[in-house]
Amino acid sequence: MRLRHKPWAKDKLLQYPQYVVQNPETIKGKWNEEFQNDHPLHIEVGTGKGQFIYGMAKANPEINYIGIEMQDSVIVSALDKIIEDPLPNLKLLNIDGTNLQEYFAKDDVERVYLNFSDPWPKKRHEKRRLTYKTFLKLYEDILVDNGEIHFKTDNQGLFEYSLRSFSEYGLLLKFVSLDLHNSDFENNIMTEYEEKFSSRGQRIYRCEVQYQT
Ligand code: SAM
Repeated sequence: MRLRHKPWAKDKLLQYPQYVVQNPETIKGKWNEEFQNDHPLHIEVGTGKGQFIYGMAKANPEINYIGIEMQDSVIVSALDKIIEDPLPNLKLLNIDGTNLQEYFAKDDVERVYLNFSDPWPKKRHEKRRLTYKTFLKLYEDILVDNGEIHFKTDNQGLFEYSLRSFSEYGLLLKFVSLDLHNSDFENNIMTEYEEKFSSRGQRIYRCEVQYQT
């Protein structure tokens, strides 16, 4: 996500530790204590400005959500949404998702959302795609048994690549849509990128995959 650099963003994130968790490595394995309940935890890696995770948290108060975004100038917009209308079941992490296992233990997470992840179309950048096998291993290491990944994108190449990657990893394909906005899928919550691309007439692809025990 390209955005103007906001030099004040980091300070603002630090001012709201109740929403942007500081030192998340100290909470590894104890996220239920952080949320003060035993509800399941769903995370989004690359949450951007947070429209999706905020909408999900608002619609599903019985699920805890964490939006993960490495760019402070971007995640600060997600923070603004929470400041304006706080939700007890939503927190943010300003971290690099490449190191998820430092912050989450096995079984901490029930579902991973990936929305409009950077496609990294060049073959030499394959390892950076959030659906590359090393990331699938990373998610497996923090998910419950039979945990799920829910993935949306406008990028056909990334979608096809990801379906192959999921399949080669042994994940079960539970749902697939090649045109989400013209399907009968209900209660879709749109991301910022989804709004932008679909308003230009681009198709949205979506799938749900599950780890097998
Ligand atoms: N999901 C949002 C949406 O659909 O509107 C944002 C999509 S944007 C193309 C991808 C976002 O993922 C960027 O904001 C980028 O900084 C973030 N991102 C990419 N790799 C990441 C990583 N390893 N850890 C955390 N965030 C990451």
